[in-house]
Amino acid sequence: METTPPRAFVYLRISEDRDATLVSVENQRAEVLGLAARLGLPVAGTFVDNDLSAFSGKTRPGYRQLVAAVISSPEPCTVLVWHVDRLYRRPSELEDLLGLVEGQAVTIETVRGGMLDLNTHEGKLAARFMVTVASYESGHKSDRIALAARRSAERGDWHGARRFGYQLTADRSATIDPVEGPMVREVVDRFLAGESLYSLTVWANDQPVPPLRAKVWHANTVRQLLASPRIAGLRSYQPRDQRPETPFRNVMGPGRWEGIITPAEFERVLAVMKNPDRRTTRAGNNLLSGIARCGRCGTGLVIASSSLSASGSPRRRYVCKKVPGRPERGGLSVEGAALDDAVTAAVLRRLTATTAPVRPDLDAAPLWSSVAAARERLTDLATDYGRGDLTREEFQAARAAGLSVLRGAEEALSRVVGSGSLTTLPLGDAVALSTRWYEMSVGQRRAVIMALVDTLTIKPAAVPRGPVFDLGRVELRWRA
Ligand SMILES: [Zn+2]
Repeated sequence: METTPPRAFVYLRISEDRDATLVSVENQRAEVLGLAARLGLPVAGTFVDNDLSAFSGKTRPGYRQLVAAVISSPEPCTVLVWHVDRLYRRPSELEDLLGLVEGQAVTIETVRGGMLDLNTHEGKLAARFMVTVASYESGHKSDRIALAARRSAERGDWHGARRFGYQLTADRSATIDPVEGPMVREVVDRFLAGESLYSLTVWANDQPVPPLRAKVWHANTVRQLLASPRIAGLRSYQPRDQRPETPFRNVMGPGRWEGIITPAEFERVLAVMKNPDRRTTRAGNNLLSGIARCGRCGTGLVIASSSLSASGSPRRRYVCKKVPGRPERGGLSVEGAALDDAVTAAVLRRLTATTAPVRPDLDAAPLWSSVAAARERLTDLATDYGRGDLTREEFQAARAAGLSVLRGAEEALSRVVGSGSLTTLPLGDAVALSTRWYEMSVGQRRAVIMALVDTLTIKPAAVPRGPVFDLGRVELRWRA
């Protein structure tokens, strides 16, 4: 009697978390097909799953198709895999498979680990032993740790060691550190105002407070601090199937400690972090599009497609765009860089003149004075500390108090002028203002301009046009 060789089904799965030596699906395929050839088995079907995390509990469509093929096979069949841990991830999955193929003649052949006959007692025992070992090695330990962290987060407790910005009390509740807390607050404010991680890191290293477990701040430490839900008083846990370098944690809800920032602010931080386009590198481009208006028709000016100047650099012009059927539109244009510079200079002068209230009707003048006084006080403190007149503890305590006063005054001021974009500007300090201005993104600068400027109108050019930019064409009215 002629014997037909058993049908073989190939199952391939890529798994990244089992070990560092990643075996790609294509390598698995080549080795498994080599095994089939050596055993003289015709391959009746190949099933592939490409899950990146074998222990994440994701469904595996390829695996389900494989089980269906095995069950419906009229003849004895063989399943070919690279290693048995590609086939089932947990002992319970092996038991499910054994139940499904009960009564079917199934053999498992592996490239690494030999043959398992699931119809024999020995085969089942070996399969159970191998999957238990694989499961323990890969997932069990991290399962237990992740579960403990998750349970703790569900209770709302502070989990783990103290983190920057907080102190832990004897009963392991967390309170905001009087020095580190305000620093966290300022890092977030500066980040939301458009500062890069790099410039934040430079700034952090200028502060007298080092990070908890290092001598200096690195961009990565600053990024982790910003991305930590703890600072918003939120409990969270690190999803087990995320790569360690992913800074984003799963938020579970409010914790039993006070936030340094609000959850809404934390959401804004994450949104900025997750958007890689948050920084505009082409500084100066389109600073005043839509803000500057045509002196003839009142339309917002836009940037015209740039032509090259004699020096080869792009020449930008704000223009009143021609619109078909609207004869009043078009014709007016103004040199881009010159207008940007003129308006920037006026805005910086305005922000430096702290005694001039932006909205006198709301009596902002005292607030501007408070901001200037608080900044002066901080500068004095730093000078005293530098001269050795203050101990480090005295300096930190006084500085925290000063920052708190400054924050309060700036927040009150921003409510009065109606723009959060002013809260982190060093108002009244011409040098610091100018530095900060050019660190800011174009979008941030536009926000400040819009907060201050009521109307910016560009009058038609004089005829004949002179060689120098005519400042008389710019009519700027501040918000009252
Ligand atoms: Zn116009």
